[in-house]
Amino acid sequence: RVKERGKAHYQFYRSEMNMKGKNVVSLETNLRKAIQRQELTLYYQPQVDLKNKNCNSFEALLRWHSPTIGFISPADFIPLAEETGLIIPIGNWVIETACKQIKNWSEQFSADIRIAVNISPKQFQQPNFIDMVKDALGKYSIHPSSLEIEITEGAMQNTMEAIPVLKGLKDLGVIISVDDFGTGYSSLSYIKQFPIDVLKIDQSFVKDVLENDKDAAITTTIIHLGQNLGMEVIAEGVERKEQADFLLEANCHKAQGFYFSKPLPSEEINHLFKHQSFPNNINIKRREV
Ligand code: C2E
Ligand code: MG
Ligand code: MG
Ligand code: MG
Repeated sequence: RVKERGKAHYQFYRSEMNMKGKNVVSLETNLRKAIQRQELTLYYQPQVDLKNKNCNSFEALLRWHSPTIGFISPADFIPLAEETGLIIPIGNWVIETACKQIKNWSEQFSADIRIAVNISPKQFQQPNFIDMVKDALGKYSIHPSSLEIEITEGAMQNTMEAIPVLKGLKDLGVIISVDDFGTGYSSLSYIKQFPIDVLKIDQSFVKDVLENDKDAAITTTIIHLGQNLGMEVIAEGVERKEQADFLLEANCHKAQGFYFSKPLPSEEINHLFKHQSFPNNINIKRREV
């Protein structure tokens, strides 16, 4: 439902663009200024280890609150950012901010924390992308494996270009995951050729996993595929306890979704962990000293 709503908003902007031009120009102008005006923030959604309920990883999700337009969903402005090239400075800001947060939480909670960032195909294809990631890791002196790069199957379509970038990232030591796995033009040969660490099962399969035999079969097959290839598997869009139970039974490693927690601002995550008041026994595994 979230995605459909996002699409409708986007189409609204698109049709505005065709009719008046001015409004989208202003949306674009606003987006252009959003970084310097500090209107962008990252929310963080816990990724929970289904076996022990540890939560040492989070997905960073971009939020834009414009004082003039209001709240704009990433499903609406990410495509615009892609079209206009603004995704490059925005994407760089996301990586920097996530690295800073990794540093902060690792120290604050004396724990190994991992944050996953979404990378759009255009950003991924930037010639200096690897250097940019390397600089951000260096700036906050964080371990490369505490940063996860989420790419979609779309970013891998041009195999010849994608392989060197993925190998470069792998050499740096960052974690590479495939987002929305199973919904794009995925081919098993990508999975074989690319140095992928994590498969994220798309929420469209998880949604009806209890009611629909085909969704259940696809979900368990992705879990087995990941397991057999030594990859971590994360299920997205887990909204009910019964779905989490199903996934645990099927040996899925981690889950994220509204059942455990919606994406939250970092201060709220700080608060919940400090007071150990996270629902469903979620907890951070501390570093052993
Ligand atoms: P995604 O990476 O697949 O992120 C998952 C989306 O599902 C998020 O929507 C999240 O809020 C939502 N979600 C999480 N748990 C549940 C659940 O239990 N049920 C349902 N129905 N939805 C759930 P969000 O935050 O609106 O982001 C939408 C998309 O925008 C993301 O999909 C991602 O493709 C893109 N996006 C978000 N942040 C960034 C970013 O920093 N850079 C880029 N390039 N794309 C981003
Ligand atoms: Mg994602
Ligand atoms: Mg996803
Ligand atoms: Mg997505």
